[in-house]
Amino acid sequence: MLVMKFGGTSLGDKEKIDVVVSLIRSRLDLEPVVVCSAHAGVTDLLLDGARAAAEGKPDLQPIAEREHTLLASLGLRKDLVDDELERVGQMLEGLSLLGELTPRSLDTVAAFGERMSVKAIAALLRRRRIPATAVQADEAGLVTDDRHTRASPLPAAYRNLRRSLAAVKGVPVLTGFIGRDEDGNVTTLGRSGSDFTATIVGRAIGAQEVQIWTDVSGVLTADPRLVPEARPVEHLTYAEASELAYYGAKVIHPATIQPAVEKEIPVRILNTLDPQAPGTVISPSRKRRGNKVTSIASKSGIRLVNIVSGRMLGQSGFMSKVFDAFREHDVVVDLVATSEVSVTVSVDHAEGLDRVVADLQKVALVEVEEGNALVAVIGERMREDSGLASAVFDAVGAEGVPLRCISYGATKTNLQVVVPQTLMPSAVRALHRVLFPEPQGV
Ligand code: ASP
Ligand code: MG
Repeated sequence: MLVMKFGGTSLGDKEKIDVVVSLIRSRLDLEPVVVCSAHAGVTDLLLDGARAAAEGKPDLQPIAEREHTLLASLGLRKDLVDDELERVGQMLEGLSLLGELTPRSLDTVAAFGERMSVKAIAALLRRRRIPATAVQADEAGLVTDDRHTRASPLPAAYRNLRRSLAAVKGVPVLTGFIGRDEDGNVTTLGRSGSDFTATIVGRAIGAQEVQIWTDVSGVLTADPRLVPEARPVEHLTYAEASELAYYGAKVIHPATIQPAVEKEIPVRILNTLDPQAPGTVISPSRKRRGNKVTSIASKSGIRLVNIVSGRMLGQSGFMSKVFDAFREHDVVVDLVATSEVSVTVSVDHAEGLDRVVADLQKVALVEVEEGNALVAVIGERMREDSGLASAVFDAVGAEGVPLRCISYGATKTNLQVVVPQTLMPSAVRALHRVLFPEPQGV
């Protein structure tokens, strides 16, 4: 069995959807489960619509128009998703009466993008004589925790999905992105969460492969907006891909790899606009030839939190106090560097940080530094090259970019530096020149 996940751009217009249908048709013998995102732009329209509604301006029109135009271009009945549109309309009215927006209501509204797209794709497949059924993941048992806007599946989700999908007639066309908590509230897995759904389903059904069909030919050696000569990476290990996604490569949702790891299911990133391109395959291990570094990731909007405590630092319990404060307020820490008298951590989420700082100030001097960016050099085989760290520091230093913070964990899959935000692009370009000098064969 195979999971084929199609992202928003792949489902963005008739031309691409035609390609999607032919890709599904060509793999019918592998019994695909299709996972769909919302059509490009629809999730944003829904989220913007919810926010505007909470400010007293409910307007279903842009959402309805986008869906109706697309259905018409596909030759499908315009009223196919009218039930869903009606429910969105009612919710927007409700939000405007309440005048407030909770993460829970945001999730309920956002979920409709996928609810509508699976109906359209399943209907189109049937029209093209491929038996198919639209499946709503929340109804098919994708139970999650109740962390709205960034939920994770509960163990029962796998069992439930396996059972529900086995009972579906024809190709199951399943909503990405959405789930339901144990109280029955709709949750979402976070922006781009359909990738995560794809591997959750892959694990549930024991798929031979999970294919993520997107609008780029796989993972690139760096962000192409910063490095125009960035090239696709043929092969990544699970560890490398997780680091990359976590540190800002937009190609896959950061949690995507987890479910695949447990059953060692390969995840292949493919381009709907160029289906013959090899893409990137992510699997447990990688051939021993080729580049030791696989990619450079970068993430803007990083804050450094410097925590200084002359008296307490060496004493046992200080570190745990520090991390307790971050955990208590649900602030995720990226990088940690310590010295005799201080701890520096980097965070990319301002939310909750004020409360962490207030707590830490009870035991230490705390300073928050904004305007930084994180650059991560990733490659599981970096540890084999003792000169690599100095090559990285030299390349960045030669550009006159000061290093604000450095971290190189014992596993040596990931060397991270924090640099001033404004200098990050030149740091990334310099690193790419040094680490990927000529076409590689990773
Ligand atoms: N539709 C959701 C989003 O736009 C989820 C996804 O596309 O994966 O973030
Ligand atoms: Mg995506």
